[in-house]
Amino acid sequence: MNRRDFLCTAGAAGALFAAGRFSRHTAADARSAAPGERAQIAITLDLEMSRNFPTWETTHWDYEKGNLDADTKAYSVEAARRVREKGGVIHFFCVGRVLEQENVDWLKRLAADGHKIGNHTYDHVYVLAKKPEEVQFRFTRAPWLMRGKAPADVIADNIRMTTEALKTRAGIDAAGFRTPGGFSTGLEGREDVQRILLDQGFTWCSSKYPPHANSKEGERPKQDVFDDIVKKQAA
Ligand SMILES: [Zn+2]
Repeated sequence: MNRRDFLCTAGAAGALFAAGRFSRHTAADARSAAPGERAQIAITLDLEMSRNFPTWETTHWDYEKGNLDADTKAYSVEAARRVREKGGVIHFFCVGRVLEQENVDWLKRLAADGHKIGNHTYDHVYVLAKKPEEVQFRFTRAPWLMRGKAPADVIADNIRMTTEALKTRAGIDAAGFRTPGGFSTGLEGREDVQRILLDQGFTWCSSKYPPHANSKEGERPKQDVFDDIVKKQAA
C-alpha cells in the first residue's frame, strides 16, 4: 500500500512544530504556497498519563494510561484555552479508557470549543506488536484480558472501543488516529496495521516520528533544532 492509499503523517510526539506542513496530506499544498503565506502549524497533545511521574521510579501509569488525573486534565484544558485565545485549536489524541471516568464534561467542552479529538487506542497499545507480551503493560500483567485473541485482534478491538467510547459517552466523532509511540518510518511496511485502520474508516494516521536534534533540558530550543525538525519531517 503506498502513500496515496494511506497517509501516515508526521508528528507522534506531544507537540509538533513542523512549520510549513502538518502532514503529507498538505505537503503538496505547502510546497505550492508562496513564501510568506500562512504557516501551517499543528499543536497536538495526547490525553494520557505519563510514565515516570511524579517520580522517576513511578511506572504505575503504564497500567492506567487513560485514567487521567485531575492535574493532567486541568493542564489539557488550560492548554486548549490558551491556544483558543490566540485563535488556534489543539488536535488532541485521546486514550479511550478516560471515558470510563465519572465525569467527561471537560472533554465534551474541548470538542464543543472546536478542538479535535482523535483516537489514541483504549490502553495505549503498541500497534506493531506481534507477540501477546508486546501489546501493552496492562495485558502483560493481566493476560486474561486478551481473551486468548491474537495481538492484531486485541489491537483492532482497542482502537474500535475508543471510537465507540468517544461517540457513546461524549458524542465525539474520532478525528483521526495516532499510534501510541512514534516510529521513524511510520507504518511503512506494516500493511496489516494500515488495514486495521482502513477497515475502521480511518484514512490517515499520525505515526511518524523521525529522530531529530533536540535542546538541552530546561533550555529554549534554538533555531537549529527547529530547522532540523523540519528537515527530518521532509525526508
Ligand atoms: Zn501516547
